[in-house]
Amino acid sequence: MSIQTKAVYIETFGCQMNKSDSEHMFGLLEEIGYQSTSDIQLADLMILNTCAIRQGAEDKVFSYLGQWHRLKKSRPGSLIAVGGCVAQDYGEQLIKQSPGVDIVFGTHNLHRLPELVLKAGQTGKVVVEIAQQLPEDLPEIPVIRQNSVSAWVSIIYGCNYNCTYCIVPYVRGRERSRTLESIVQEVKELDQQGFIEVTLLGQNVTAYGNDLSPSIHLGNLLESLGAQTDIKRLRFLTGHPRDLTIPIIEAVAKVPQACENFHIPIQAGDDRTLRRMARGYKVDTYRQLVEQIRAYIPDAAITTDLIVGFPGETDQEFMNTVSLVEEISFDGCNTAAYSPRSHTPSANWDQQVPEELKHERLRFLNSVVNDVAKKRNQPYLGKKVEILVEGYSARNNTHLTGRTRTNKIVNFPGTNELIGKLVSITITGANPWSLIGTQQHSEDSCELISN
Ligand code: SF4
Repeated sequence: MSIQTKAVYIETFGCQMNKSDSEHMFGLLEEIGYQSTSDIQLADLMILNTCAIRQGAEDKVFSYLGQWHRLKKSRPGSLIAVGGCVAQDYGEQLIKQSPGVDIVFGTHNLHRLPELVLKAGQTGKVVVEIAQQLPEDLPEIPVIRQNSVSAWVSIIYGCNYNCTYCIVPYVRGRERSRTLESIVQEVKELDQQGFIEVTLLGQNVTAYGNDLSPSIHLGNLLESLGAQTDIKRLRFLTGHPRDLTIPIIEAVAKVPQACENFHIPIQAGDDRTLRRMARGYKVDTYRQLVEQIRAYIPDAAITTDLIVGFPGETDQEFMNTVSLVEEISFDGCNTAAYSPRSHTPSANWDQQVPEELKHERLRFLNSVVNDVAKKRNQPYLGKKVEILVEGYSARNNTHLTGRTRTNKIVNFPGTNELIGKLVSITITGANPWSLIGTQQHSEDSCELISN
């Protein structure tokens, strides 16, 4: 019996793991006759894959659902589904707050989505299903990737830390690693499909393998992928300073495909703030970690995450964060103003920093981060680097864009036959967040900045 093709539109908020989950939703729904559409006006099923990391992301959910509810009225029979971290947190409450939603599913039962969609379609009733943890055996889920050059591969789910500002452990649960064999098999298939790069994902990717028996570590996985697959580039994010061990750094230095960039959130540059965040390390520990990375891989790119305006943060503690950015000389920092989250201890603490002061600090920190990032990019001027061309630049459609092994964005004039290729580019300009380049001669061998 032929399945009537329907159209599904997915809007994804938040991190790379959410983007990877959305690709798996497309894979699952194709099995019950849904094809992806980028035009929501054509959708029979509209899915919002949500993020709960900050209040702004959560508020956005309800404004989108309001618009979608109006849209749904013009498309009788169409369905609205909500997944991701806000859905995991709210559950039934989301239906009360957002009429028009037909399906609510969580972060632990993605594999159930086809059944929930069919049930809502057949019964016309609201379906809410939230699981409190992942199934005993992690299901292998089909995937339809939205990019043909670089692929996301989730290797560990959840987080065992309890940082006092973070909702992730509440909505994503405890750490669960996939088996090394299933990941190697997936990456082999990606290589056969022509993918050049794989980014290994986890809320705490550096804890990969700790929960397996016998336990292994991320360095073991990188070595296995390097030895057993021909994938050209390997990356991983997001790490935790306590779990980024020497064996992992050594593996990055040793495995040719492992790219020389580390994203290690420090969150603050002050010990009292780190203690109150329950991050589990001191600024000095982080300094030593950076020294170890730079000892093994001198030109590695190091980026981080920073929160300003954490409850009780004094001017001096904030300035400690600013001076650490200059001292470490980060290649880039994702910065954010502290946002109180439900289910987290710090949300109810006294000494909340006024919003105006938070944003004043954020503006100041961003100006320092930009200056430091620009300085970090100066040594690239005149150098030839290998970049993986990902597509056209969003800003200039005569320019292609891609990334160095150190995860620097490079824009250069070029034409589409280079997309998906590793090419040699000479850097002619350096901005805080991107480099400008030109392609001299196609046969030029790469003069890599690192190793
Ligand atoms: S390590 Fe990261 S994901 Fe885990 S609780 Fe802390 S901030 Fe959240």
